[in-house]
Amino acid sequence: MKNQLALYIHFPFCKRKCNYCSFVSYAHREADIPAYVNALNLELAQRATSQRVGSIFCGGGTPSLLSPKQIKDILATIHSRFTVDNAAEATLEANPGTIDESYLRAIRKLGINRLSLGIQSLNDDELRWLGRLHTATEAKEAVYQARQAGFSNLNLDLIYGLPGQTLSSWQHTLSEALRLSPEHLSLYALSLEDDVPMGQAIKQGRMPPLNPDRSADQYELAEDQLEASGYRHYEISNWAREGYQCQHNLTYWHNQPYLGVGVAAHSYIKNHRLANTTDLDRYLAASGNPSQVKDNDEEIKQELQLTETVILGLRLSQGVSIDDIQGRFGIDLGERYRQPIDELVSLGLIEWAGRHLRLTRYGQRLGNEAFWRFLPD
Ligand code: SF4
Repeated sequence: MKNQLALYIHFPFCKRKCNYCSFVSYAHREADIPAYVNALNLELAQRATSQRVGSIFCGGGTPSLLSPKQIKDILATIHSRFTVDNAAEATLEANPGTIDESYLRAIRKLGINRLSLGIQSLNDDELRWLGRLHTATEAKEAVYQARQAGFSNLNLDLIYGLPGQTLSSWQHTLSEALRLSPEHLSLYALSLEDDVPMGQAIKQGRMPPLNPDRSADQYELAEDQLEASGYRHYEISNWAREGYQCQHNLTYWHNQPYLGVGVAAHSYIKNHRLANTTDLDRYLAASGNPSQVKDNDEEIKQELQLTETVILGLRLSQGVSIDDIQGRFGIDLGERYRQPIDELVSLGLIEWAGRHLRLTRYGQRLGNEAFWRFLPD
């Protein structure tokens, strides 16, 4: 996987906006999808590189609003312009309520080999608060349909730390999710911007505030329950059965190159971080022309590359390898960061494990407390 390119395609359309969402996604703009696909194909063609593609990830938004024909066109562009590894992981994010078995069969045949389902909760009240389009039963049906359609690599996204969510309600979602036997689980703590409907409801006292202590208890419960069910906790928010870690996201955590196309997509290429516009109209007007849709281009100097490699690596349970840092930057990790490491070890947030520096279990809950200490002055 190392030295291969991760290719990300952003699809910023949703049927409607969820109550907690601050992602770049547009509701009620389905009529623009065909023009968006044309623009994506143009951007992909113009930004093709010779580096072998090790993973493709179509995220959103709701990429399962793309028709199989549109997915076929995008994949055809990718395969004609890039060299794609035969074993490349190809993920599509999908939301229950937008898919059925025949759709899933069609996209599986096109080469999508990993499905990431936005389940979020298996409690109907919580799904309503969140403003999701589906019920718990529909979420379970989506998993069943995915299996019938031949998907053997499934991720379920779940959210914890919801306003008023009890430990037992979260326990219920976890247990039900485990009964579905996914290969991979991503668990995210709810965080809210003030201007989203749920943020407003909390501000106006119509919903209880977020409770970080309960959220920490829910995280701990998940750690115990998932580990007991045979999942390996390999990144702060991610668990997988053996052999099913997300190859695409590992590229980010190893601070390796990735190319992002589409509205709001980011890239990290040749030590430059690039960001596309978040404005759908501007992207469409430019038909995805890379020079017109780029909003930011920042050179990442070696000092920052090192810091980012350490911080991203600490997100992984195995931690950061002394040998990788030595090989990549010619720097002794323990020497270079002696002071923050000593401090964090004494606080019980990080530890040495052989030739790796990693967060402790306690540190995984307080990652940011550790990360900022590695930032340059
Ligand atoms: S489906 Fe995802 S991207 Fe779309 S509105 Fe809901 S949370 Fe946002």
